[in-house]
Amino acid sequence: MPHDLPKAYDPTAIEDHWAEYWVRENLFAQPTPDTPIQNQGPGGEPFTILLPPPNVTGRLHMGHMLNQTEMDILTRWRRMSGRRALWLPGTDHAGIATQMMVERQLTSEGTTRQKLGREAFVERVWEWRRHYGGAILDQMKRLGASVDWQREYFTMDEGLSVAVREAFVRLYDQDLIYRGAYIVNWCPRCQTAISDLEVVYDEHKGHLWEIRYPVLGADGMDTGEFLTIATTRPETMLGDVAVAIHPEDERYLHLHGKKLRLPLMNREIPVILDEWVSRDFGTGAVKVTPAHDPNDFALGERHHLPSINVMDDTGNINAEGGSYAGLDRYVARKRIVADLEAQGLLAGIKDHTNNVGHCDRCKTVVEPRLSTQWFVKIEPLAQRARDAVRQKHIRFTPEMYEKTYFEWMDNIHDWCISRQLWWGHRIPAWHCSTCHKITVARVDPTRCAHCGSDKITQETDVLDTWFSSGLLPVSVFGWPNINAQNRGDFDSFYPTSLLVTGFDILFFWVARMIMLGCWFAADVPMPDGSPRSLADSVPFREVYIHALVRDANREKMSKTKGNVIDPIEIVKQYGTDAVRFTLASMASPGTDIAFNVARTEGYRAFANKIWNAARFLFMNVDRAAEIGIAVDPSALGSMPTAAADAPLEARWIVAELHSTAAKVNQSLEIYRYDDAANTIYQFFWGSFCDWYLEIVKLRLDFSETADKAQTKAAFTTLIQVFEAALRLLSPFMPFLTEELWHAVYDGNPPAKSIALTHFPQATGAALNQAAMDQMALVQGLIVEVRALRKEIGVEEKAVTPIEVRTGADLHGVFQQNSAIVERLARVSEVRFVQEISAGLSKHHTPTFDVAVVYERTIDVPAERDRLTKDIAKYEKGLAAAERQLGNEGFLAKAPSHVVEGLKKQEAETRLLLEKARAALATLPTQ
Ligand SMILES: [Zn+2]
Ligand SMILES: [Zn+2]
Repeated sequence: MPHDLPKAYDPTAIEDHWAEYWVRENLFAQPTPDTPIQNQGPGGEPFTILLPPPNVTGRLHMGHMLNQTEMDILTRWRRMSGRRALWLPGTDHAGIATQMMVERQLTSEGTTRQKLGREAFVERVWEWRRHYGGAILDQMKRLGASVDWQREYFTMDEGLSVAVREAFVRLYDQDLIYRGAYIVNWCPRCQTAISDLEVVYDEHKGHLWEIRYPVLGADGMDTGEFLTIATTRPETMLGDVAVAIHPEDERYLHLHGKKLRLPLMNREIPVILDEWVSRDFGTGAVKVTPAHDPNDFALGERHHLPSINVMDDTGNINAEGGSYAGLDRYVARKRIVADLEAQGLLAGIKDHTNNVGHCDRCKTVVEPRLSTQWFVKIEPLAQRARDAVRQKHIRFTPEMYEKTYFEWMDNIHDWCISRQLWWGHRIPAWHCSTCHKITVARVDPTRCAHCGSDKITQETDVLDTWFSSGLLPVSVFGWPNINAQNRGDFDSFYPTSLLVTGFDILFFWVARMIMLGCWFAADVPMPDGSPRSLADSVPFREVYIHALVRDANREKMSKTKGNVIDPIEIVKQYGTDAVRFTLASMASPGTDIAFNVARTEGYRAFANKIWNAARFLFMNVDRAAEIGIAVDPSALGSMPTAAADAPLEARWIVAELHSTAAKVNQSLEIYRYDDAANTIYQFFWGSFCDWYLEIVKLRLDFSETADKAQTKAAFTTLIQVFEAALRLLSPFMPFLTEELWHAVYDGNPPAKSIALTHFPQATGAALNQAAMDQMALVQGLIVEVRALRKEIGVEEKAVTPIEVRTGADLHGVFQQNSAIVERLARVSEVRFVQEISAGLSKHHTPTFDVAVVYERTIDVPAERDRLTKDIAKYEKGLAAAERQLGNEGFLAKAPSHVVEGLKKQEAETRLLLEKARAALATLPTQ
């Protein structure tokens, strides 16, 4: 039998099948166009979106799942709406994370990367990547992401590495990369500099140690006086080179020009004057350790002081630390404090809460430390990146992130791009041991470019991972090798259309892509050879910052709290479609999502409902075939319309479909995934399944005597609407809709996938408002009758007459559709009356009164009780509406349609209240 769907909806079976099919068939591949299609080429305007590359070490978490669901919905929607959609996947080599992962493996094997040596270690990481690096993208494949797998990249790929090297060399040649000694955040565990953004600060209850530094006389001998300083890191005093005071601090005027003796080290150090010193903090005297504090470093530069670095790469005290050399920094701290105390130089210890920076990767306390690093001189790049956003060439949603962006960009520092790691892009610079100059080159040099010496060695540092990921928007389209033969991708897909990402990488990644994109793309001429403007140099036109997924209690998910939800587990339980729909139904700009499994269960039921509707439909396809009725497949695939003389439900469901399509398109345009999903849900579950399917059963007469033309018309509309609704739902529930869509075409679909068909678009003519109004009346009547039957205890199977009192103008609607009312509300006859018969229990609505004629005496006290409750409810509603309509502030701010709606509601409630009061008055008193 055709259309034979299994009885039960089993997401796992259908999802595995289609996920594999989509990848195997390369359905979402977007080949390089022959000619640029910048605007309206034959294949539609491009819609390009870059996957924020997950770390190659990563596993999919809820944040990814939300991010990817949002991207997939938009990409599928744009693709179905006629855009040439390209979603590009890839992974990031993630310097620190990956190196740590492999180092841990080595530790368990009893060896280290140092024992292995650099080359063997890097080979070992590649091997790790070959085995495990595809895991997170495999998860994506299973979740059905509609990406172009043929374009998958890895940030260490050869092509992308060429781009990294070119970018470095160009910036160096432009004097925008320099090498210098600066204070960096040093992680003694990872033994590398890390960026400001990779340091997490925790409040820490520590101490403020007050130390007395003896003041020396002109003869170099102790005067017996002390200058007391305060510090949170006493071990750094080993590297002190001065003590600074404010020049106008009256307490210390007599110390101007004096020298001090640095305790424990017996070093003479000067008292220096600097207005930066705060007179109110601590004692007003500050020790100066340029090699271990960024402020002190600046002080040191101003006063031409030396820098003494007292720690090695592992955080141990080095030879500069005198007798403390070799000690761990915290062991040294204890020893130093004890020694000071023994010498009577410890003035006091105070409790002190301060913010301590930890390495984001390994949680080790970070040591501010002087080291020689490579920097990008950021200002010319930052200026262009600010202009791009200020001139609205890039738009942020939610808009507030634009402000966050400027706050950071306006205070940006030079970017330390070197990392002391082995895994990453090695800096293409060679040091000459003959002339001590640096050679930076695109091709590995054999000789120094300055003196010709062959005694050159390559820099051991690698580049910050974000240097390569910041280049992705240009490098994935072939930059820097863009020439006449190789520019189709760049011309067609750059700038990309949209970036969807989390706020946590706004600075790490988004800002850097803007800086590097605007800088390098500007040098690529437009397809017609003209210079590229800033507007066309940006890496993307829009940025959508998605929210956080929290647990059901709105708590942030964390391993320590144990409330992390694994998306793969939930998918196993409920299916990908239900999880995607859950996320979509709550996703809107700037609103965090409280993920509740109960909701997912509800959306699985939704999928199940659609499945059952399809089964009902296909059962009828077969019955129709028996009497020679078949729907021509060419009638499917577009937006259905209804003839003017078609039955109300046909005109109505077609109008609803158009209206739903219009709302969904509008909502997705402004990233209201929630509105889009909820609109489709209401349509499919409510309008289509609960109402339309029940009504249409009236028309599906497959008997010998049936009016075949009528049955066929009804049947055609039914299948047309269902098919279109599947397309509407497809970006949200791609698996279920793919399965059912293929079944609709009975194995002969017009395309390889529903994803390659057209997304429903509303046409104004089909938005039949009259049909919608009439249907609302009929539905209203059915709902009231159902409620009445329940209230007065009509037996479920009993069929009863009803009395309807309404304006003569509405008689026609109810009469013409009496068959619907009869079927859906178990009514035997609709009687129009001037007055509802006395003694019948009735419901009032603003447009009609209705009563169910049922042999039963009214329970007067219960009826009185009900009416009293209704009156109280209406009074309350009315008071609230009046209060709101009397609120000037509200009226000034609320959109006019909201105010109009409220006024209408107020009038209706007032009418209901009057009717209920009248009914109460007519009840017999006892
Ligand atoms: Zn670390
Ligand atoms: Zn040289």
